[in-house]
Amino acid sequence: MNTPPALSISNLEVSYGEIHAVRGISLEVPAGGFVALIGANGAGKSSTLRAIAGELPARGTVFFEGRSIDPLPSEQRVRLGLNLVPEGRSIFGNLTVLENLKLGAWNTRDSKVFKQDLARMYHLFPRLEERAKQVAGTLSGGEHQMLAVARALMTHPRLLLLDEPSMGLSPILVQEIFKILRAIHAEGISILLVEQNANLALRHADHAYLLELGQITLSGSGAELLAHPKIRDGYLGK
Ligand code: ATP
Repeated sequence: MNTPPALSISNLEVSYGEIHAVRGISLEVPAGGFVALIGANGAGKSSTLRAIAGELPARGTVFFEGRSIDPLPSEQRVRLGLNLVPEGRSIFGNLTVLENLKLGAWNTRDSKVFKQDLARMYHLFPRLEERAKQVAGTLSGGEHQMLAVARALMTHPRLLLLDEPSMGLSPILVQEIFKILRAIHAEGISILLVEQNANLALRHADHAYLLELGQITLSGSGAELLAHPKIRDGYLGK
């Protein structure tokens, strides 16, 4: 039997009143795939991710591992194995790193599993172990982002949606975050990555889509898009 894609969306539409932010897009993340959705500011990338995660009302269909999840609220989507790391990271600044990770494990009742998960996070993100008792609001931008990813991983996702993980980070930290994303992907977790930094995203993704004004205007392998004149001229910067 063929493995269904991790994610398959058709004709997805999101509106904010009069603003038609996402205009009927269709895309797929194969099982175990690393897919990027690139586009300029305001193209509709975050709205797409939030609709897939069930955080925004949307029209169209969303299938997760072959199953329609349209009627499900976001917590149930997380329980099924689909988790969003939002832009801006949204961790609890007044709680410690460890407390944030505990909150991430809300769907894990078994304390043995929790300890194993925590050990895995500390292995992936050694800095988080060093900072376990530190209040999260005092972390650096990179550590903040690592905590946001680690917290999402505590829910055992099989598909991780990432909204601009490179945002506001120094080039060295961006490299570190992407190294971790590759490690997570190598463990078998499928990834849908939203990035304004097209160069970075296309170098890591197996497949990518370009979103412009709420519509997909180009798709192909990361390498194909990197070489495409439209991307080279409009999205790769100097
Ligand atoms: P960015 O990289 O700047 O976050 P984006 O590609 O993620 O951009 P969205 O945040 O999805 O784009 O926004 C798409 C469009 O929807 C924009 O025109 C934006 O102004 C509008 N929009 C987003 N959120 C809201 C909202 N809560 N209310 C009204 N309009 C919104």
